[in-house]
Amino acid sequence: MHIDIITCLPRLIESPFSDSILKRAQAKGIVTVNVVDLRQYATTKHKTTDDYAFGGGAGMVMMIEPIDNRINHLKSQRVYDEIIYTSPDGEKLTQSLANQLSLKQNLIILCGHYKGVDERVREHLITREISIGDYVLSGGELAAAVIADAVIRLIPGVLSDETSALSDSFQDHLIAPPVYTRPAEYNGWKVPDVLLSGHQANIEEWRHNQSLERTQKRRPDLLK
Ligand code: SAH
Repeated sequence: MHIDIITCLPRLIESPFSDSILKRAQAKGIVTVNVVDLRQYATTKHKTTDDYAFGGGAGMVMMIEPIDNRINHLKSQRVYDEIIYTSPDGEKLTQSLANQLSLKQNLIILCGHYKGVDERVREHLITREISIGDYVLSGGELAAAVIADAVIRLIPGVLSDETSALSDSFQDHLIAPPVYTRPAEYNGWKVPDVLLSGHQANIEEWRHNQSLERTQKRRPDLLK
């Protein structure tokens, strides 16, 4: 998979991809993440990528021209499956959407800032708009990192144990069961006996029941 993230604040997006699972996914050659600094492609004399809103009002608006230029340049290099704009009023990011996106080859994620992008970007240049929740962030960079993380970890080979993504919450509409590690007893608080029994079938059954119970208790909406 190849992901281009277009932003006017590249430093905000770099660190999530420089550590742990996302770093290893790139080192293994499973995914390439390319951060595109929009300011480098600004067309104005002062290298600005935003301007005042027509009609007045507080907040700057990201201009269409540098975004259009960059997207066109990227599109001349590869065929993109989706050109995503991070937006609080977009389709809500869910595990099911992450699963769908993990099957794609090439993605662009455009990060908004300030008041957002000129509406014509959304009308003409974007194929999909994704929100990470009903709250407003100051920029799309954290949302882009969340989307990319949720998607990349699902690609086969990224997690060392491939089955591990399948046993996470929301796959199969269930919440993950509780997990424990050493010591088996701490302050008198014990790990459930079954997990120490070595009896794999019983352990699987216990985990499944815990998943069901947790889902019923915490997220009954998932079972519908
Ligand atoms: N004026 C806009 C909010 C702009 S916030 C409105 O009221 O809808 C600045 C940028 O942050 C947005 O352009 C978007 O790219 C990003 N952003 C903010 N909240 C987000 C969310 N919940 N999900 C995804 N992106 C978000």
